[in-house]
Order: sequence, then structure tokens, then C-alpha cells
Amino acid sequence: MSLLELRHLSKTYPGANGAVVHAVSDVSLSIAPGEVLGVVGESGCGKSTLGRSLLRLIEPSGGEIVFEGRDLTRLTRHQMKPVRRDLQVIFQDPFGSLNPRHTVGGIIGEPLEVHRVGTRGERKARVAELLKLVGLPEDAASRYPHEFSGGQRQRIAIARALALEPKLLVADEAVSALDVSIQSQIINLIADLQKRLNLSIMFISHDLSVIRHVSDRIAVMYLGRIVEIGPAEEIMTAPRHPYTQALLSAIPRPGVARAERIVLEGELPDPANPPAGCAFHTRCPHVTDVCHRVRPQLARPKTDDPASRSEVACHLYEAA
Ligand code: SF4
Ligand code: MG
Repeated sequence: MSLLELRHLSKTYPGANGAVVHAVSDVSLSIAPGEVLGVVGESGCGKSTLGRSLLRLIEPSGGEIVFEGRDLTRLTRHQMKPVRRDLQVIFQDPFGSLNPRHTVGGIIGEPLEVHRVGTRGERKARVAELLKLVGLPEDAASRYPHEFSGGQRQRIAIARALALEPKLLVADEAVSALDVSIQSQIINLIADLQKRLNLSIMFISHDLSVIRHVSDRIAVMYLGRIVEIGPAEEIMTAPRHPYTQALLSAIPRPGVARAERIVLEGELPDPANPPAGCAFHTRCPHVTDVCHRVRPQLARPKTDDPASRSEVACHLYEAA
């Protein structure tokens, strides 16, 4: 059974001159308990809006967010409060999201206070436990965020996100602001905590090389829509959508020549004015006539591989 199921989730914004910006369009996906779903796509493709909408940090414009069998879009703010314990988020900028005037202990313990969990002493003990869990020294509790490095600050943010023992964590570009060497430490920490706590995670990143190691499945987004989704292994070894192929070709891999790199022409189109048909047609190396007119649906393609589980939205493939 799914922990979370998004059904036809959409988010539009009013744009300039009365235009409508389609940040997220008709996204349906599910996350199982203990599963990590990687969401990848260029900056501006709607992945952050997707993550924020499913947490109801912003209100979706349409669709359903079914969490443990309940549609969260129907809940009032008051009814959402207990659900918030189960849904937590870590953002890209660990400095901006930590109050510089609060001690680290105060920051990590804040969700416990807000939700009135335990006594003062119990909360203090829980903070100490969380610091240990994320690999920070116990005396960190009485210090301030500016005394820590970027990687350590992200550990603080992770400890705070885990304080209420959430079931689902949204990690939005959680390592993008960090040096590459620190990135892998934080990715390993998240992967380790995921296993120990059997967390479900939506791991959002513009960088496929970041999410490939932690994800069970990967969803590729382009201009507000999922263009391909499937088991991480299948996406990484047999990508079908030309956009996924381009993203993948940009990652240096042993045995793959640099010359095989697919360079996409042009910029991401304006989401207030998306191209007709397949939104990727303005940049696709395989574009044909039908791509300009008909939007391809996300579907399981006909394939000789009976183990294949991925879905793709592209006219190059016939639906199974
Ligand atoms: Fe390219 Fe056409 Fe497939 Fe879109 S539908 S990705 S334009 S081949
Ligand atoms: Mg973003």
C-alpha cells in the first residue's frame, strides 16, 4: 500500500499580463512506506512546487494528496496540524532555514515544543539523542548555527526534521548548496537514516548523480509534468525519454565516452506559455511532426523486457 498518493496534482500561479503559469500539471505518483522517490529536472521544472504542494506549504490548484488514505487537500489548517508531524522537509539553504538567534538545541527542540511533546527534560534528552543520530557532538545544543559549517548546519536541519519521527521527508535540493565532498557525507547520512528509521523520502534534485544512489525509483520532470518514472536502476541503465537520456549523458560515467554527451539546445520554455503537443519538442533531438500537435501520455511502453516497470511520455514508444 502507498503511504502517499498524488492524484492529478496541479499548481498554477497568476503570471504577467493575465497569463497562467502552470508550475505543476497533472502529476500522479505514489510513495510506499520506506521508499525513496528521487525527483529530478532542471531548475524551474516544478519539482520544488511539487514538494511544497504535497506538504501543503502552498495550496495546490487541483488534484488530491492522499496520505495514509486521507485526502489532505480537504483538511482544514486545524485538521492538518497533527498530520504535519508525519510530513517534514529539509531545504537547500541550511543557514537561511535556521534561526541565527536560537541555540541549536532550541532549533531542534522547537517542533517538540510546538506539538507539546514530552516534558522539558524529555525534550532535552530527545535533542541529545537527535544530535547523536546525525553525528553532531552533544555540546552542539548550547551553541549557535553560525558556529557550524554548511554540512553541519544541514545535519542540524535534518535533526530538526526528524524530531517528531515523521513518516515522509521531503528533501528539496538538500545538498545542492554544499561542496561536493560534503554532499556525499550528507547523502550517506540521509540514506543511513532512511534505512534505520524506515523513512519514506521524496528526494528532489536538479542533479541526477545526487539522487541515483539513494533512490528506489526516479521521476523525471519537465515543465511541470512527469515525463518518465520507474525503478532507479532502469532509469539509469535504460532511460527511454530523450530528456532523461540527455540528463544522464551529462553525468560522467566510467566506460561512457564524453562524445556521447547529448547537449540540449535552448532554454527551458516559459511555463506561462508551454509549447503545444510534447512540451519537450522545442529541444528534442528526435522530434517528429506528431510531437508538435499531440501531448504524449505517461504510459508503460511496449517492451521485450518483462521486468520493466517504467513509464514514459513520448511518441517514440508505443504503449503496452
Ligand atoms: Fe521528443 Fe516527440 Fe518524444 Fe517529445 S514526444 S520527447 S518531442 S520524440
Ligand atoms: Mg527548486
